[in-house]
Amino acid sequence: MTQALLGGLATGSVYALLGLGIVLVFSVSRNVNLAQGEFYVYGALIASTLVGLGLPILVAAVIAVVAVAVIAAVLQVVVVARMESAPHATQLLGSIGIALMMAGVARMLWDTDERSLPGLFDRDEPFDIWGLSITPQTIVLFTALAVTCALLWFLLTRTMLGAQMSAVAALSSRAGLLGIRTNSVARLTYAVAGGVGALAGIVVTPLVFVSYHAGLGLTISGFIAAAFGGLRSVRGAVAGGLLLGVLEATAVHVGQSTMKTPLALALLIVVLLVRSESEASGRRWRTLRLWRARRTAVPRLHAVAGRARPLASAGRRGRFAALAVIAAFGLAGPHLLAPYWLSVWTFVGVLVVVGVGLDLLLGYTGQLSLGQTTFMGASAYLVALAAKWWDASPLLAVAVAMAGSVAMAGLVGAVVLRLRGYFFTLATLAVAMGLEALADGLPEQLGGPSGLPVLTTLGIGPFALDTPEKLFAATWLTAALGMAIAARLVRSRFGYAMRTVGHDEALAAAVGASPFSIKLRVFCLSAAYAAAAGVLTAHSYLSVSPSVLGFLGGIDAILGLLLGGLGTVFGAALGIPLVRLLPEAGESVASYQLVIQGFAIVAIVLLMPRGLMGGLRSVLQSLRRRGDADATPQSPEAAAPGHLSVSAAAAPAEVPARDPRTEPRLRLTASGVEVRFGGIVALSGVDLEVAPGLITGLIGPNGAGKSTLLAVLAGSRRPTSGTVRLGERDLTGIGAGTCARLGIARAFQLPRIPPHMTVLEVAMLGTFRRGRGGILRSWWRGQRELAAMEATACEQLRRVGIAHLARAEASTLSTSDQKLLEVARALASAPEVLLLDEPAGGLFEDDLPRLAQLLRGLAEEGLAVVLVEHDMSLVMEVSDRIVVLNEGCVIADGPADVVRLSPEVIDAYLGV
Ligand code: ADP
Ligand code: MG
Repeated sequence: MTQALLGGLATGSVYALLGLGIVLVFSVSRNVNLAQGEFYVYGALIASTLVGLGLPILVAAVIAVVAVAVIAAVLQVVVVARMESAPHATQLLGSIGIALMMAGVARMLWDTDERSLPGLFDRDEPFDIWGLSITPQTIVLFTALAVTCALLWFLLTRTMLGAQMSAVAALSSRAGLLGIRTNSVARLTYAVAGGVGALAGIVVTPLVFVSYHAGLGLTISGFIAAAFGGLRSVRGAVAGGLLLGVLEATAVHVGQSTMKTPLALALLIVVLLVRSESEASGRRWRTLRLWRARRTAVPRLHAVAGRARPLASAGRRGRFAALAVIAAFGLAGPHLLAPYWLSVWTFVGVLVVVGVGLDLLLGYTGQLSLGQTTFMGASAYLVALAAKWWDASPLLAVAVAMAGSVAMAGLVGAVVLRLRGYFFTLATLAVAMGLEALADGLPEQLGGPSGLPVLTTLGIGPFALDTPEKLFAATWLTAALGMAIAARLVRSRFGYAMRTVGHDEALAAAVGASPFSIKLRVFCLSAAYAAAAGVLTAHSYLSVSPSVLGFLGGIDAILGLLLGGLGTVFGAALGIPLVRLLPEAGESVASYQLVIQGFAIVAIVLLMPRGLMGGLRSVLQSLRRRGDADATPQSPEAAAPGHLSVSAAAAPAEVPARDPRTEPRLRLTASGVEVRFGGIVALSGVDLEVAPGLITGLIGPNGAGKSTLLAVLAGSRRPTSGTVRLGERDLTGIGAGTCARLGIARAFQLPRIPPHMTVLEVAMLGTFRRGRGGILRSWWRGQRELAAMEATACEQLRRVGIAHLARAEASTLSTSDQKLLEVARALASAPEVLLLDEPAGGLFEDDLPRLAQLLRGLAEEGLAVVLVEHDMSLVMEVSDRIVVLNEGCVIADGPADVVRLSPEVIDAYLGV
């Protein structure tokens, strides 16, 4: 046992060394470097080549470490630095691309051989210490770990570079303001991480062989180690690595060696959950209850008369044509393709189905899951098992497989979606790798590495899919159907919520769309696509094996989707065939597959972030625009920007500005609200009552806590103590999404504008809470509901005076117009309470009277308005009541004239 523990500690030191590299990069740049394991592989392989050339091992080791450090720095400059401002899903993809590329190049240079290195000492026989036998190389390994830790500690705490690294870690790009060259710090960090990785490879390879594909597994182990300390602690990484090593050794010792990997990966998920700030869970159930209780009181959208066609339906003909082409391909393919190509294209079709589901999750909802193949594999296994265990009929087997996989997605998603960004992606990777290892390790139940046969034939009654031709047709028709469903969904109310979540979760919550629940539903939906693909795979191959579950199979789907274009629905059908058919070009290409995949991912991420469809779309748009321009002379009305076709599409006109209400409006009250950020007290004991029909001006110097108070009122910040109520209902801690659904709308101080959305679309987001139901219902109501959303949004844009900009891209607007758009979006939700954070900041003088008039109008309609504003004349003019905050306390509260003359206020704030 002790001997086993020692072995575990040795393995653990390797993980710790890998983890240290990951910690270093993450703490400086917030990047998870998935190529860390490749640095190890390169260190070992370069050193082994040099030793082969006759160099002594020590010299070879030094050269290899330096070489890998240089490679790492070059990669940082060429790839990583250019992705700095990209979304984290993109950065992670880039990192995967680098890892694949390096593995592929290693395969070209060193082939598939396993290589070894001589130890640093000539002596081979182990030392005997207290009855334990320790090889000299193990001692070298422990020493390397200790020396690396000591050097890192010295570097980080005792050198100028270390100080600069900490500054960059804390301030990211703003560290530049301190005169730090952030780029060179990041480059150096990568170089050091590369050196540490190479060192690990060199000291371990005398003990274990290395070959080109070892990198990813090593990265994962290193990541588990690093995750232990929250990715930023040297000590945590060392402890995590050693613990992981011991855990694995124990599993092997008690005869459960097949459980080693699943155990480690399960541990990873647990660590991630504990370590990352997960959203409070108890809250969610309360949220649901509250929402139900209040459902009836929401002012619904007004149906638009006639056959309205919303703007989002533009390009309909193109979509129908694409679907028709794909369906026609499914029907005609069997007559056109030779049997070999038929099976190749069937598998392409299967991946397209996976890709469309992934597009919904990644392209629209912004979540990069590496676990799509898990659900595909689970479904394929369930098909096989249903027949084997329960002797199920084919249809029942399919039903079990689909339902089982989606249910599994629900469970997995409920756990991993608590994690964000990188952590989510890595948790899905852990699930994929863990299940693959599990299937591999259960020969009796799941057939082990050779898998299970599939004994059923898919089919309904006489339509048995018993030939490759029929399976091909079924696959491509499924793909076409999947795309039709997805294309409709993304152009619905729920689709807009998905896109908002993908870009800005805080904004989604502010319009009443709960990010977690939307992500979970899309996760399950995308798993349903993967499960359908799994059913098709099982029946095409007539067997399933663990490799179906592995995430590497899914890389083609991700790569194809990237190439085709994320967030386009049809991109998968364009990109995946290109990616899959490339290896068919010949044997020679097949052996370069990894390099090509890696390079392709990196190139697309850097050069063509919107993919082929994105390119196609912008060409089409510019053509269309030219067409519009040609049409101008005949219909000046239509071309004048103020009279967009919305007004034709959405002609409700008679919609009353507000709903006639029977129930009395509610009062928003905050009592004893305190908010602390660590040591800073942003608010202390604030009481505030916001009455319907009145404008409450909230003023105070910068840093007084005004924005924080608005965040508390909007539910997006939970107060440290104190309560917020709407009428009788306690809102404290129920979250921004629920508050928004209850009718509290907020316009942010810094406008939150998702990229690639028109002004009209941004305003439409505000209407989310006024529609009903989830995915199914909004899919079903589709464009009718969108037309109503457009009509409402348009009306509010007119009200704030920017209707003429409706079709412009919102991110191109001036600050002043973006501020007005914030107000329009908030109004589109028909709120009870309107919270405005400095709406006049950046507004032109001429716009102020109109804003004042708008606010007065809203109050007369019975809205409760809270106005945070610096422009004193505006506040004094419109407010019924003024509350003055200073250093987190209310120092005055009363009618404008009284407050203006109060001595405390003059002292603290007005100062005139
Ligand atoms: P105002 O909007 O009145 O200018 P804020 O509400 O933005 O003021 O900030 C109030 C105080 O709380 C300030 O001292 C600010 O530094 C601090 N603060 C605000 N947000 C945070 C945060 N997320 N973390 C730490 N401190 C914060
Ligand atoms: Mg503020």
